[in-house]
Amino acid sequence: MNYDIIIIGAGLSGCSAAIQLGQLGYRVLLLEQNHYPIHKLCGEFLSIEVIEIFAKLGILDRVRTLGAQPIHRAYLTTASGASFRSQLPSTALGLSRYQLDLMLFERAQSLNVHCQDLTKVAGVSGDLAKGFLVSTNKGNFTSRLVIGAFGKRSPLDRSLARQFIQQKSPWIAYKGHFTGVDIQDVIELHSFPNGYCGLSQIETGEINVCWIAHQRVMQEELDPELKIPKSLGQNPVLADRFRNMQQTSVNLQGLSQITFALKGNFYNDICMIGDTAGMIAPLCGDGMAMALRSAEIAVPLVSQFLNGEVNVNNINKFKQNYAIAWQREFQTRLQLGRAMHNCFVQPVLAHLGVNICHAFPFLGSWIIGATRGGAGQSKF
Ligand SMILES: Cc1cc2nc3c(=O)[nH]c(=O)nc-3n(C[C@H](O)[C@H](O)[C@H](O)COP(=O)(O)OP(=O)(O)OC[C@H]3O[C@@H](n4cnc5c(N)ncnc54)[C@H](O)[C@@H]3O)c2cc1C
Repeated sequence: MNYDIIIIGAGLSGCSAAIQLGQLGYRVLLLEQNHYPIHKLCGEFLSIEVIEIFAKLGILDRVRTLGAQPIHRAYLTTASGASFRSQLPSTALGLSRYQLDLMLFERAQSLNVHCQDLTKVAGVSGDLAKGFLVSTNKGNFTSRLVIGAFGKRSPLDRSLARQFIQQKSPWIAYKGHFTGVDIQDVIELHSFPNGYCGLSQIETGEINVCWIAHQRVMQEELDPELKIPKSLGQNPVLADRFRNMQQTSVNLQGLSQITFALKGNFYNDICMIGDTAGMIAPLCGDGMAMALRSAEIAVPLVSQFLNGEVNVNNINKFKQNYAIAWQREFQTRLQLGRAMHNCFVQPVLAHLGVNICHAFPFLGSWIIGATRGGAGQSKF
């Protein structure tokens, strides 16, 4: 075998797994189709639970030096004019994916990890008993184990014939960086018919603007003044933000077919982490923390396998242990996230929900806290 382990995708979960397995001394190959740095579609709002993980991965000082923006408050509004302000349960951070993914990739490169970018994986064959063959545009590689960390949706899902890829999803998202409004120390979430939009500051001082909407919103005519689909302009606060903002990104990033389905922890004996296993609704702002955490859950089990503690007779038990650990940690959060997403995109439910949070602030704060993992004693 060329490698002990091949990791497909050098996003947050893939880099995190590569760094940890590299630190343990395994022969790791990390494959990424893009070349960093690149802008990625994301709200760029990080839960505090990532701080401890950044420290373990050895990037916390760099995150601090870059000037990640601390965020302490949330502001929710609806198209009907309802609003709710709350303290976040703990400090969150605004940091661009342009910097974060690069930082993690460079950290993996600095360890004993073979990192290969501009390498697109086209197929994977083999199994845990015999080993794997990974085919790419740069040739074939072999390993004892493969981790799938290739994100929300990839052509690789189709070539592996994963079931979720057969189902169409109507959710489309866009993201860009803007200036012109003063949004400091707060994550703003503005609901509009069939979607919502998040705004928060990143390390450059720019505002990251990211919205997700049903495809029918994206088919609407643009508001002639605001140059956004008319539904977004139905939220008066959001309309006001767009009236005053100027886009600094050259292009907006866009992504369609976003699904919140559970996709499975193992598929064809490939261990899935991050969004490849399942993504939480963006409203919760916890997907990046979950991606990093899922790598933390997988690594000790993968290490047991590579150490020879798993044999052909207990491979199923090994796969089951990962599924149980993953579900124990994420299942409730994912369900709550889906329910919140479904409420926030429907004007009547969004109005009702935000008004209830306004009347009972402790309930609103509890819901915000329940969509994320423990903050521990993390300080930034
Ligand atoms: C609209 C929206 C807003 C969001 N906002 C937030 C937020 O504010 N806060 C938050 O915490 N989370 C947010 N998320 C979720 C978050 O972006 C993801 O959960 C997180 O990026 C998952 O990381 P990952 O490592 O699983 O995947 P990714 O970061 O997507 O990495 C996957 C990598 O795999 C590579 N890849 C794919 N296919 C191949 C292939 N065949 N060969 C080689 N490489 C391949 C890709 O290029 C990519 O680099 C948001 C999601 C959406 C959709």
